[in-house]
Amino acid sequence: MKLVKLIANLGYGSRKDVTAMFRAGMVTDANGEVLYTDDQAAHADIRIEGEALDPPAGLLIMLHKPVGYTCSTKDPGRIVYDLLPPRFRLRSPLLSTVGRLDRDTSGLLLLTDDGALLHRIVSPKTHLPKVYDATLAHDLRGDEAATFASGTLLLEAETTPLAPATLDVDSPRAARLTLTEGRYHQVRRMFAAVGNHVEALHRSRIGGLGLDDLPAGQWRILDAPDRERLF
Ligand code: URA
Repeated sequence: MKLVKLIANLGYGSRKDVTAMFRAGMVTDANGEVLYTDDQAAHADIRIEGEALDPPAGLLIMLHKPVGYTCSTKDPGRIVYDLLPPRFRLRSPLLSTVGRLDRDTSGLLLLTDDGALLHRIVSPKTHLPKVYDATLAHDLRGDEAATFASGTLLLEAETTPLAPATLDVDSPRAARLTLTEGRYHQVRRMFAAVGNHVEALHRSRIGGLGLDDLPAGQWRILDAPDRERLF
């Protein structure tokens, strides 16, 4: 790929802007030698004003989403992209959230520009477990785990029953729910279906990946070993 396109696709500006950056001598190699638009250079060797380029396409990011942020780019309020470097929103291919978490849900959110990877993570066929820690308004009755595991629970206004899900009860009002699909507001609607109400919801795991010590609002790029832990 031509250098101007490569750099523009990373969100540094339009092709015109990036061409102007070349003309101004802002684009160099790792030794500080000025690069020209027709030069060949590996991604890892390119510097903009001495700084390494943002990561190439094929990016997978883990974000610890705080409560109060939405996954939509159209929301006029705070959005998860506000927590990332502004350039990341301008990348091509686009960096999308892998599924969504509600505004009031915190926890592990993945973002990627790799459409095939996104599909693999969200597809119910992959059976990738997603673990949610729920704090409930009412004491559990005791029959919820069997109902969720049955594979027959039908949510309101839906015609396909939910896939079996696992409920691990920590205390009368705290439980961990493991799902392998991701329907709209699924956890909140499942507890509503058994007469309860979710007061707080946090996603703690996707596959073998947890947030570990990542603080709320922080993100990190996932490398090859992380990806292996995912599936
Ligand atoms: N289920 C929900 O109800 N909300 C989320 O944010 C995620 C799963």
